[in-house]
Amino acid sequence: MLSRRLKNDGVSILRLNELQIEIKKQIDNKVEIGNYHFEYISCPICNSNDKDLIGEKDRYGLFFSTNLCQKCGLVYTSPRMIQESYNSFYNLEYRKLYGGSEEVSPTFFQFQKKFGKRIYTFLSNHNLLSKTPINVLEVGCGAGGILDHFRDEGHFVKGIDLGEKYINYGISKYNLDLEVGSLKDITLEVKPDLIIYSHVLEHILDLNYELSLLKKHIKPETIVYIEVPGIKEIHKNYNYDILKYFQNAHTFHFTLNSLTNLFNKHGFELIYGNQFVMSAFKFKGDLDRIPISDYGDVKTYMSSLESKRKLNEIYLFLSKKNKLILFKILHFTGTYNFVKKLYNRY
Ligand SMILES: [Zn+2]
Repeated sequence: MLSRRLKNDGVSILRLNELQIEIKKQIDNKVEIGNYHFEYISCPICNSNDKDLIGEKDRYGLFFSTNLCQKCGLVYTSPRMIQESYNSFYNLEYRKLYGGSEEVSPTFFQFQKKFGKRIYTFLSNHNLLSKTPINVLEVGCGAGGILDHFRDEGHFVKGIDLGEKYINYGISKYNLDLEVGSLKDITLEVKPDLIIYSHVLEHILDLNYELSLLKKHIKPETIVYIEVPGIKEIHKNYNYDILKYFQNAHTFHFTLNSLTNLFNKHGFELIYGNQFVMSAFKFKGDLDRIPISDYGDVKTYMSSLESKRKLNEIYLFLSKKNKLILFKILHFTGTYNFVKKLYNRY
């Protein structure tokens, strides 16, 4: 295990409100009495069962067993809840536990729309968007805010999601072309030029099935945009704290490398991507490529997070004046570059 603080002790590292405490108890109870069922999986990229245990709980203190594949470096949850249990969790507990509202709000829609602008800029900056109108499909579109931005830019949009309330909101308030369902349920009149998955893939249990479905809905020019929370930016986005990053709704935890390995397996080539992760892929046919392992790299990064987290906490605790004194001491003694190098190494 990465650190003793990741043991399954039931303790949440977030301060939960009364509703969240009640919901957490409800989930813990369902797990204990066997209402929520779990399954063991092997690595969906390389099929290996050889893995290092990373942690046993998530940020809410729920049982959450994460592993690092020794062969290809994918971080994945196993055992994990089966689909039926996840469906019940999403229906009854997900929004309440994650502090979200049951109702869709204009604020949520605008929040999604900002994501849309960011994705649009990313694709434009890498010359992946045509100036002429294109067909955009979003899988897991929520209320459709991302698509609304693409429509504002003059494109034709369509979205699918399993959340009925969200879909109805997007249709009634913004007149968007949205449908309840997933890739296996839809028939499209035209194959999209762009397919978006934004913070969706890490929730999908059968990735290989999803990608085989995706192949049926594309044409050779289709760009597939994938955004997932990247492990290698935990230091930036989660203040060095891997526990803040772990949440029981996520069953896969990608780096740009592991995401590329998964897409390569299904014949998709990476066009551009970063470790955030924002990425674009295109189907090239059978690539016959062996996954490039980043096992060692991911392990070193995750281990370094723990030591850096403690240092970071001390640093944040210092007053502005003391931070300045610290910098002056380091510069004066000529150790600033040495400490910086040491810090970046671990
Ligand atoms: Zn693997």
